[in-house]
Amino acid sequence: MMQVCNLKKQFNNIMVLDDVNIDFNTKEVTCILGPSGAGKSTFLRCLNLLEEPTAGKILYNGKNTLDEKFDVRQLREDVGMVFQHFNLFPLKSVVENVMLALVLVKKMSKKMAREKALAMLDKVGLSDKADVMPHTLSGGQQQRVAIARALAMEPKMLLFDEPTSALDPELVGDVLAVMRKLANEGMTMIVVTHEMGFAKEVADRILFMADGNVVEDASPDVFFTNPNTQRAQAFLSRFI
Ligand code: ADP
Ligand code: MG
Repeated sequence: MMQVCNLKKQFNNIMVLDDVNIDFNTKEVTCILGPSGAGKSTFLRCLNLLEEPTAGKILYNGKNTLDEKFDVRQLREDVGMVFQHFNLFPLKSVVENVMLALVLVKKMSKKMAREKALAMLDKVGLSDKADVMPHTLSGGQQQRVAIARALAMEPKMLLFDEPTSALDPELVGDVLAVMRKLANEGMTMIVVTHEMGFAKEVADRILFMADGNVVEDASPDVFFTNPNTQRAQAFLSRFI
């Protein structure tokens, strides 16, 4: 579905991604682990073209995303993203947050958009919160609204950048439960996370990033019991 070839990203003079080569397959759940500063967020942002690579190629369904003729808008519709800080619109109600892109981007009528948004809120267990303002919700509920908003666009792939890192510990479980459900339904997902339990249980594949590259690409079984590199061993030892 997505092929990353010799991807490099430089900020000022620092090589933040240094020759990353990786493929992502349909319906696969990939968890990306790694220390802070490894380049995980930058990598995700390159995948949906929020960052422009310094060099290399990203192919989406075989098409070069950096080609002038490539439909960037279509890719942004196909590849949804959920951030650490939910980024909800504070002056719009919960359901309006979920409807917004349906009306503006998909050109749906408000009535249809609201119906769809309510269905998505139901999916994340928040249909009773449709007409409240985001600030009245807990962080975990806000993040589930952000997931509903991404789902409303019927993405082909969802990218999550530490979706539970900003949450109080007791709120993490509800968000992970929604993500687990999506994974079980066959959503293609790439999840940057520090939730080792989730990664172990839900991921089909673990990528471990360090210093701007993917240094391990393994099944959770192999990665968590027998990591190849010292970097990964040291990283994992901090979670036990
Ligand atoms: P991670 O998500 O793994 O913590 P990031 O991708 O956020 O890592 O950052 C990797 C490196 O790139 C860090 O050293 C960070 O300071 C740098 N970086 C990220 N974004 C920018 C930017 N917009 N401008 C300059 N440096 C950046
Ligand atoms: Mg990050």
